[in-house]
Amino acid sequence: MNRSEQLKALENEILWDIIVIGGGATGVGTALDAAARGYKTLLIEGHDFAKGTSSRSTKLVHGGVRYLQQGNIKLVREALRERGYLLKNAPHLTSIQTFIVPVFSWWEKVFYGLGLKIYDLLSGKLSLGDTQILSKKETIAHLPTINTNRLAGGILYFDGQFNDSQLAIEIAATAIKKGATVLNYCMATGFTKTNGKITGVECVDILSAKKYALQTKVVINATGVFTNAVVQMDDQLQHDLVSPSQGIHLVVDARFFPTVDAMMIPKTDDGRVLFAVPWHDKIVLGTTDTPIETTSFEPLPLEEEIEFIIKHFNKYSNASITRANVNSVYVGLRPLVKQKVKGSTALISREHHLSISPSNLITITGGKWTTYRKMAADAIDNAAFVGKLNKEKSSTASIEIGDELEKENRMIAILKNDLTLSPLIHPAYHFIKAEIVYAVQYEMAMCIEDILARRIRLLFLDARIAIESAPLVASIMAPYLHKDKNWELAEVEKFTALAKQYILT
Ligand SMILES: Cc1cc2nc3c(=O)[nH]c(=O)nc-3n(C[C@H](O)[C@H](O)[C@H](O)COP(=O)(O)OP(=O)(O)OC[C@H]3O[C@@H](n4cnc5c(N)ncnc54)[C@H](O)[C@@H]3O)c2cc1C
Repeated sequence: MNRSEQLKALENEILWDIIVIGGGATGVGTALDAAARGYKTLLIEGHDFAKGTSSRSTKLVHGGVRYLQQGNIKLVREALRERGYLLKNAPHLTSIQTFIVPVFSWWEKVFYGLGLKIYDLLSGKLSLGDTQILSKKETIAHLPTINTNRLAGGILYFDGQFNDSQLAIEIAATAIKKGATVLNYCMATGFTKTNGKITGVECVDILSAKKYALQTKVVINATGVFTNAVVQMDDQLQHDLVSPSQGIHLVVDARFFPTVDAMMIPKTDDGRVLFAVPWHDKIVLGTTDTPIETTSFEPLPLEEEIEFIIKHFNKYSNASITRANVNSVYVGLRPLVKQKVKGSTALISREHHLSISPSNLITITGGKWTTYRKMAADAIDNAAFVGKLNKEKSSTASIEIGDELEKENRMIAILKNDLTLSPLIHPAYHFIKAEIVYAVQYEMAMCIEDILARRIRLLFLDARIAIESAPLVASIMAPYLHKDKNWELAEVEKFTALAKQYILT
């Protein structure tokens, strides 16, 4: 992935078959599906890949136990199928994760035991392992710091886990290999129309401020929680399609929850779901579901959300974490499909939603990371129809994502060329300096944030350490990006201001 090459391809093409707006899970998946069908495909992302919700998930590849509780079998079955494809096609970025649901009465044991057996059965041949009912003693053996007060046992079940932003970047890279042009820092600003139908996209290269007017047969809006703004670029009178709901996560050291198993609390005393999931030698605690009015690229946690997670984690474990123990807090916005119901976001559909405007703008939104491939396939089926393209079938169910061997060879070459890149970026974390060079040369990282938030996950794992590492990251990036000392200083200042928002004071 080289940005200059991608920009050249954008400038050389006269007419695209499909332009995808948005480089989160849905957008990169859509670009891959389109390119694999042989369509001339361009994806433009206004910031960095996965800058939005797609880097801020709970990191679960899952069918959604909660949706089973709501009786939405179709949604769960579809997501479990997609879970299977993802684990098969991106084994280096996903893993099987055991989850334990602690139960506090015989009735809960029966209820959750049965429910999670059905959950496993719904995955059919793609099952990751049998659900097991655990005694109190077995539950404590799995979760040594569980609060044993009233504990009656537990249910063990299997789901998946993944590195969300890295997956998005590798799907984008795979799309390029299949022939797509993919560009970050390129913002869609408007549409051009012929006889009321969209025939072009206006966009701006954020890094050079150069404007482009591109021609295309069809446009797909895959901008997640920013969908409404793009829909209104098409038709100012259009009503909002999505309603944002905020979810926060707190990341703490593994010593507060020393186990390889994740814990899932299906119903806290105020009816929410709480996860404690091991991730990169840390524990991710979350999440919340708070309806909010406005969208932002850097949403902030609410005090009540922080308190909810700390209070409930302490209630179900023997740990008594405080704000000072939180390494990082990160916040994501769910693009929930708006229905005509007012009130709680729990009532709003988690299923994906596809619409085609009178001017032919295709909008794909909702869903979840796990189901990005199916969303993409649906979007391209419709795009082929709208854009009168040759009819081709989706092949992404069997396309491998990324190329581990190629990455390994490139890393070896980087290190051979410059042995000073072999030391760690920070002594507390296993990331090495060569990874910064790799991200600049092969993954379109353009600034410190691209590296520390979405290539190496230090901002999410430990925001203070990320701030400490920023000057080094800038100094390694600068020569590869042909930048000077002033750029380094400005970048460090910009990143530090951002990273402070990930620290609880
Ligand atoms: C708290 C939380 C936890 C979650 N956990 C999980 C989980 O564990 N597992 C799971 O499967 N799902 C999970 N989800 C759901 C999942 O993360 C989202 O459904 C998914 O990431 C949405 O991806 P997207 O591509 O539609 O949107 P986004 O990732 O937000 O991508 C939209 C992109 O569009 C870009 N954009 C916006 N406007 C423009 C423009 N004008 N021009 C160009 N680009 C533009 C943005 O910069 C952004 O990068 C979670 C969601 C939340 C909020």
